Amino acid sequence: SIKDNSQISYAFYEESMRVALILENEIENRMEKALASGEFEVYLQPKYLFSDEQIIGAEALVRWNDPERGMLPPNEFIPLFEKNGFVKKIDTYMFEAVCKLLAKWQKEMDQLTNMIISVNFSRLHLENMLLPEELLAITNRYQIDPKMIEIELTEGTIFNNDVQMVEIMNHLKDFGFHISIDDFGRAYSSLNTLKNLPADILKLDKAFFSESTDNARGEKIITSMLNMAKDLDLITVAEGVETREQVEFLKEKGCDIAQGFFYAKPMNVFEFEDLVKEKLKSA
Ligand code: C2E
Ligand code: MG
Ligand code: MG
Ligand code: MG
Repeated sequence: SIKDNSQISYAFYEESMRVALILENEIENRMEKALASGEFEVYLQPKYLFSDEQIIGAEALVRWNDPERGMLPPNEFIPLFEKNGFVKKIDTYMFEAVCKLLAKWQKEMDQLTNMIISVNFSRLHLENMLLPEELLAITNRYQIDPKMIEIELTEGTIFNNDVQMVEIMNHLKDFGFHISIDDFGRAYSSLNTLKNLPADILKLDKAFFSESTDNARGEKIITSMLNMAKDLDLITVAEGVETREQVEFLKEKGCDIAQGFFYAKPMNVFEFEDLVKEKLKSA
């Protein structure tokens, strides 16, 4: 009967909730140790200039190299870490790892000295007024110019009427860090919200490109966003570029930078270093 069925599905629901909670508990018990023992790794996804297809930098994306479960993508742990606050430690760890890397490139690898690397920062950091000073202290320790680093903040979590948030962003900018608005268009694509934000880079969400090139309205939206971004002096990055057609279209419409599987997937640091060196050799 219907009643029996709903009881069964409720039992299933309860059971899967229980399993999910046990899993969350297990992860929470292990995350500190995992961080201390270096299980979190920096992956880099190259960014290319549309104009000449040169690699100008990369986005740092976290991976959890779990000895038992293998290489885990961020969607399997970042949402939980956002809930319990651990994401702040992960982000800071990634930031420091990137500084270390940039310092190494400055000392040992001529070809990689002009790279700009972006790091994702959860909105939880934007409650910490000391964030800019804390990050500057890290760049100073590694003797890195903040101009080599871009802080990615996700659109849906930034509010231009939040005085404290805007002040933190202003300080970051004053220190020389680049600031980008990530996943732009996913939450509420209003460039008006950017009016008072000190961002200098706009990353258009990959959802825009999923079906846009064969869709006239989608094309118009992208075109007008690129035009408005240019009026606001924002550099534009297209995320999730997967096809030749998307590349042709975005290039023609004046988008500045491409990041997507069409060019390259996220890769480990050594693969990235080799890719840049190879590319310069063949140029
Ligand atoms: P995001 O910051 O928007 O990063 C871009 C995501 O899009 C990456 O997924 C990347 O692999 C994926 N991507 C890039 N090009 C393509 C493409 O052409 N097609 C498709 N289908 N996907 C593409 P990833 O590495 O799984 O990261 C997912 C999200 O996890 C990130 O989205 C970001 O919000 C979060 N994340 C990753 N690393 C960190 C971190 O260190 N700190 C924080 N707070 N969040 C992070
Ligand atoms: Mg990002
Ligand atoms: Mg994001
Ligand atoms: Mg994004």
